[in-house]
Amino acid sequence: MGKLREYMIPFTGLGIGKHTYEFDIDKKFFDVYGTELIHSGQIKVVLDLSKSANMLLLEFSHSGVFDTECDRCLNNIQMPIEGKNRVVVKFGTESGDESEEIVVLPTEAHEIDVAPLIYEFIGITVPYRRVPEECDETDRYCDAEIGNRLSGIILTGDEEDDEIIEPEPDPRWQKLKGLLDDSKENKDNKNNSKKK
Ligand SMILES: [Zn+2]
Repeated sequence: MGKLREYMIPFTGLGIGKHTYEFDIDKKFFDVYGTELIHSGQIKVVLDLSKSANMLLLEFSHSGVFDTECDRCLNNIQMPIEGKNRVVVKFGTESGDESEEIVVLPTEAHEIDVAPLIYEFIGITVPYRRVPEECDETDRYCDAEIGNRLSGIILTGDEEDDEIIEPEPDPRWQKLKGLLDDSKENKDNKNNSKKK
């Protein structure tokens, strides 16, 4: 796996106290670190690094949008994403101390690659259901054409509701119907459909 140099933070040269970093995550980032969950987007990451004598506190927050497909209509959409996470970096050799919130680096380490942490923290906030608000009602879709077709199917397939509104006949279907009728030349008079 390749690495992006800009995510390597050389902490040994930093003074005690807080240091803030900002990263703009886009397609380039996911191309390097993995596209399983997100392949592209625009996500801003702010990292507050607090250095003390023997440890580092890393506080990450991210917000932005990522590119995906709508679960309902497969339209290309952008979904919002955001989250906050913190990690304590300790130094030593004992590995029993490691957990999700604690990273142990060797005593001689002088820099930390925050890209895998950012990747993980963005990854855990990817919504399972990817449907934008404007699409998230039964009769509204982000892809209008698919929406019309689907709601037509739903309306004609539902016999229980008395208030069924017949969908507008699609001119293409009317034309097709006309062609079918033409092929049944002699039965033409039994049909009321208008030919084009
Ligand atoms: Zn949609």
